[in-house]
Amino acid sequence: MGPPDAILGVTEAFKKDTNPNKINLGVGAYRDDNGKPYVLPCVKKAESQLASKNLDKEYSPISGTTELCKLSIQLALGNDSEVIQNSLNATVQTISGTGALRVGAAFLKAFYPFSKTVYIPTPSWGNHTPIFKHSGMEVKSYRFYDSNTCGFDFKGACEDIQNLPEKSIILLHACAHNPTGVDPNSEQWAELSNLIKRKNLFPFFDMAYQGFASGYIDKDAYAVRLFLKEGHEIALAQSYAKNMGLYGERVGAFSVTTSNKEESERVLSQIKILIRAMYSNPPINGARIVSEILSDQKLRADWLVEVKGMADRIISVRTQLRDNLKKEGSVRNWQHITDQIGMFCYTGMNADQVGKLMKDYSVYLTKDGRISMAGVTSKNVEYLAHAIHQVTK
Ligand code: PMP
Repeated sequence: MGPPDAILGVTEAFKKDTNPNKINLGVGAYRDDNGKPYVLPCVKKAESQLASKNLDKEYSPISGTTELCKLSIQLALGNDSEVIQNSLNATVQTISGTGALRVGAAFLKAFYPFSKTVYIPTPSWGNHTPIFKHSGMEVKSYRFYDSNTCGFDFKGACEDIQNLPEKSIILLHACAHNPTGVDPNSEQWAELSNLIKRKNLFPFFDMAYQGFASGYIDKDAYAVRLFLKEGHEIALAQSYAKNMGLYGERVGAFSVTTSNKEESERVLSQIKILIRAMYSNPPINGARIVSEILSDQKLRADWLVEVKGMADRIISVRTQLRDNLKKEGSVRNWQHITDQIGMFCYTGMNADQVGKLMKDYSVYLTKDGRISMAGVTSKNVEYLAHAIHQVTK
């Protein structure tokens, strides 16, 4: 018998609890201010537009639809991207962000000639290590989070990156680092870019939260675009789970940028061969929804407003949680709750405190003290602040 998944196990325990005040802060899926799953209105409109088109259910190409691939890379790199203008990207549709990482890992394992080791930040999303190991890569880490400041350990990260073997692969969270919510600022990204260039490392960006972090798609893509401007060739995983709320539709994209058009074509051909053996071709429904939204000017404009609405609600409950902790009389420094960004807050609570929160207050979260801010609402924030204060005072 294998162990249950660390995050999905939290939901199981939550479901069994009969306390009416119970809160699930484990899983990273957006909830509205009533704690309910949220289907974006632009998605509903796209679905009804699609329904009226009477489309068939034929197979997608191995790399997904050309339209989805083009729209995805444009979303990531911006309309004026030289990489796109010069056809320096090989892009495929994938089974959401996880699939993009898995296809990317398979490609690097088979074709990246210099290293089979990927360095991930400490900590990182819990699935990064299994995904890379599953494709036969070795996984090692570099320092990222400073538990004293609950912020970015810039010095530690630079020291570790400086000491990596040349030409290793380095995984970077493009924005809204999961689980910590801690991102480098723009000067730090510039320095990281220089350092990674000097060491000839290959950057693999995981961009699971474009637009969802700050509310602005261009701002959240800053690091990826900076690295390309600085002349890096990169791998990129994208997901539409969070920013379009399309979790179960499983839509994403994987790209590699190259130095010339012919290389892009060769890379694409090899990625297609890998995908054919893994799952043959990607599902069509979610890709149609995404393409409809991104290509229809009206729907796209609606989406930009709606994704900002989700980001803003999260930013607002961060402030509410911090204010309520103060009201409760907590003298701890909770500044990091509002400094951190995206779906998650790395609270700094230890496993004991988390255990008490679950047992005494029916507040469910992962043992590392990470809370999904999406589960916090204007209705439960007071209760949550009270519970957190009681276990941390
Ligand atoms: N990367 C990171 C950092 C994530 O947080 C997630 C979602 N939790 C993913 C990738 C992939 O998610 P999905 O496969 O649902 O797109």
